[in-house]
Amino acid sequence: MSRIVCQFSCGAASAVATKLALAQYGERAVVVNAFIAEEHEDNRRFAADCERWFGRTIDTLRDVKYDASAIKVFETVGYIKGPRGASCTSRIKRGLLRTFERPGDVLVLGYTAEEQWLLDDWLENWPDRPAITPLIDRGLTKEDCKAMVIRADIELPMMYRLGYDNANCIGCVKGGLGYWRAIREDFPERFERVAQAEAKVAALHGENAYILRHRSGPLKGERFPLRQLPAGKPDRGEQLPSCGLFCETAEQEYAA
Ligand code: SF4
Repeated sequence: MSRIVCQFSCGAASAVATKLALAQYGERAVVVNAFIAEEHEDNRRFAADCERWFGRTIDTLRDVKYDASAIKVFETVGYIKGPRGASCTSRIKRGLLRTFERPGDVLVLGYTAEEQWLLDDWLENWPDRPAITPLIDRGLTKEDCKAMVIRADIELPMMYRLGYDNANCIGCVKGGLGYWRAIREDFPERFERVAQAEAKVAALHGENAYILRHRSGPLKGERFPLRQLPAGKPDRGEQLPSCGLFCETAEQEYAA
């Protein structure tokens, strides 16, 4: 019988999607997570709390080639992100997935009710890939998922409690100007560490290495270094693309 594969990303939506899939499919369901060194350490506490909630062990995968570190990927491969997605996700998540995947696996997609458009994209690109969408099927939003986690007596991951929209890495390269202003305020050392990696990559490959682009003015669309991020309003709630094992795989495939 095919497996129901729950990708647990330490986010509230994936926690609820996993809980629902486990309730519906029992032993057929397996839960997998990729450890990433740059995530907030509280993500591990959240994962442990969710294991108790699920009544199931999470199969935690950990990249060894790059020590599961997004920053180490950037500095080693000399590339941060581009039309093919972020180098970190392809290197420290996709390879792990290959070791885990089996033919016939049914994927649990943790898209929420407001993310129907992401599901539409996914289905267009993967019409034959078996998947279930427990959150969309039940009309559950991100806020619903957070509330359900809290009602299960589980404290949300620290990044949510600080006001961020997700539990991605601290300093996710998918973030925009407002997000990075927030990271600069809340996690200045991490901001500097990513800026350092960005400068190293830019020294080798030029301005395409820069994570951010000007949003307006005469330089609109041009990239610039993190260290030149102008002062402005931080936006902790900025919505970032998700960073899950399977959606990243999909993004990589359809960008190829
Ligand atoms: S959360 Fe962001 S920085 Fe971290 S691995 Fe995913 S895309 Fe890379």
